[in-house]
Formats: sequence, C-alpha cells, structure tokens
Amino acid sequence: MPGPIRVASFGECMIELNGEAFGVMRQTFGGDSLNTAVYLARCSAGAGITVSYATALGDEFLSDGLMARWQAEGIDLGLVRRLPGKLPGLYQISVDGQGERHFSYWRGQSAARDYFAADITPLECEADANRLEALYCSGISLAILPQEGRARLLDLARRMRQRGRLVAFDNNHRPRLWSEAGAAREAHAAMMDCASLQLLTLDDEQTLWGEADEDRQLARIFERSGTEIVVKRGARPTLVRSVDAVLHEVPAEPVPQVVDTTAAGDSFAGAYLAARLTGRTPTEAAAWGNRLAARVIQHRGAMMPIDAMADLRLR
Ligand code: ADP
Repeated sequence: MPGPIRVASFGECMIELNGEAFGVMRQTFGGDSLNTAVYLARCSAGAGITVSYATALGDEFLSDGLMARWQAEGIDLGLVRRLPGKLPGLYQISVDGQGERHFSYWRGQSAARDYFAADITPLECEADANRLEALYCSGISLAILPQEGRARLLDLARRMRQRGRLVAFDNNHRPRLWSEAGAAREAHAAMMDCASLQLLTLDDEQTLWGEADEDRQLARIFERSGTEIVVKRGARPTLVRSVDAVLHEVPAEPVPQVVDTTAAGDSFAGAYLAARLTGRTPTEAAAWGNRLAARVIQHRGAMMPIDAMADLRLR
C-alpha cells in the first residue's frame, strides 16, 4: 500500500491577543497558512493525508505551547525550525464601541522570517527527497520573508512544479506587509508562474494590481494558461477553471447570518486541497470549500469547534 500523501503548508502563525485594549484579553493564535493546514488536516483525517506545517519558532514556552496545539490538531511538526533567542510574531485585535475590529501587529522580528536562514531547511530537504506531494503558501508567506528567503521559497516551488507536484498559492494580499507595491506584484507574479493551483480572492487581486474594474481583472486572471484557477468572490459564485478547460461557476452556500469572516478563505483552501488530494474534481472541491467556509463564518474566530464540521470530512 502506498504511504500517506504528505502536504506542507509554509508560513507564519502568530500569538493572538483578543479583547479590550487596556482591559481583559484572551490569548490564542492565528495565521492564514496555519488555518489552512488545520482545516486541511480536519477535512482529510483518515483519508491518508499527512499535513506538515513549515515555519520557524523560538525555543521558549510560547513556541512550545503553539506546537502542542498544532499537534493536537493532527499537524505534523517535522518541518518546524526552532531558533534560539527568537519569538513568534504577535498581533492584537481590539473591538471598538461600534463593533469594528482593529488589528495591531508585532511581526517584524518574528522567528518565521528567518525560516530560510540556514544552508538547507527541513522543508527543502523533504521536497528535494521527493517526500512531499504538495506545497501550499500564500501572499502573506511571501510578504513576511526577507528577499533571500523569498527567493528560496520561490526556487523550491519551481522545483516542485517541475517535478509535477501540486504547488498551491493563495493570493491573500496584505498591502501593509509590503514596503512598496512593486515588490508585492513582482513576488506574486513569480509565485503565480510556479503555482499549479491558484486560489485567488478577487478583491485582493484587484488591490494588488490596482485594477478597479472587476471584469478587466477577471480577464487578466483567466489569460493565464496551464494552471488550475479558483476565484473566490464572497457570497457570489466561485469561478473555477481546471487546467485549460472551461470555466465553471460554483454557487456559494447561503448563510443565514454572517458572524465573523475570519478564515473564510483559509478554510476554503483547506477543504479545496483536501478534496483535490483525495481525487475530487475542481468543481467538487470548490463546492466543498464553499460548504466549509459558509460554516466557518457562522462562528466567531478562525477556528470553529471541530464538532461543528463532523459532516465535512472527506474519505
Ligand atoms: P477571503 O476570505 O479570502 O477574503 P472571500 O471573502 O471571497 O475570501 O471568501 C472566501 C469564501 O468564503 C467564499 O468563496 C465563500 O465560500 C465563503 N463566503 C464568504 N462570504 C460569504 C457569504 N457572505 N456567504 C456565503 N459564503 C461566503
């Protein structure tokens, strides 16, 4: 019997402080690539898929605590680097009197930035030994890395693609993480060239390219050939095109009340990947992604209780 399919998600997970500024706060954790890894692991538990999270942490108790929680979610920790003296990044969410959320970040010195500051990393080692079937990363994964690290991630993605592996890129563009728009565009364009699966939020793509007109942006997206493309548009139907095939619309699931859209796209990505890696078609995978994301946005926070998605496991 063949061994499990191994997927790596690369990025940064931060410590989260959530609550009232100068008041009581609850401490948890969050980050797009970790959210996707968790939802992928949850959807594919029992389906022969191992999900590894590739990141760097410090060697102190907060990093220990993160690792323990990831492990409890069934995530493999073999690709995590521990960097002595470093700390995980931190962000704080405050809700003002009008219910608006405000985010503050301390991530400029975080351990994850230094993942590639080594001759070879566990991620590169495993990929080059042909032990990884798929790689997932996002625009945030690109943004947090210094230039040399970003070049290493791009080289790795290119090598995996050349070997016919799945390279999934989720655009997740966050302008404030980039010192200038040109660098973001260059990095995204380079990763798009490596990706065999592009998971794109239309709004983010418009912000990245400065394109106010949706139709023009869509035309530009679907000009790209040779890759599977998924365009997420909130409550509107998701657009899916398999490699050089026709375009399909997959309806989003109706949601009675949106509680919190945190991790909508990340959970979509986790479910989509789980479905594709277990042999479903792109349109089936998008339907699965829409179903899970619709469930996630009816709960507060990125990580909904696992019991609330018991019917969304793939076999
Ligand atoms: P992101 O979270 O990456 O910004 P979107 O806002 O497009 O991306 O949402 C991702 C997915 O979450 C959508 O493809 C859809 O499945 C689901 N979703 C988001 N908003 C809604 C909504 N109001 N109703 C139903 N599904 C939604």
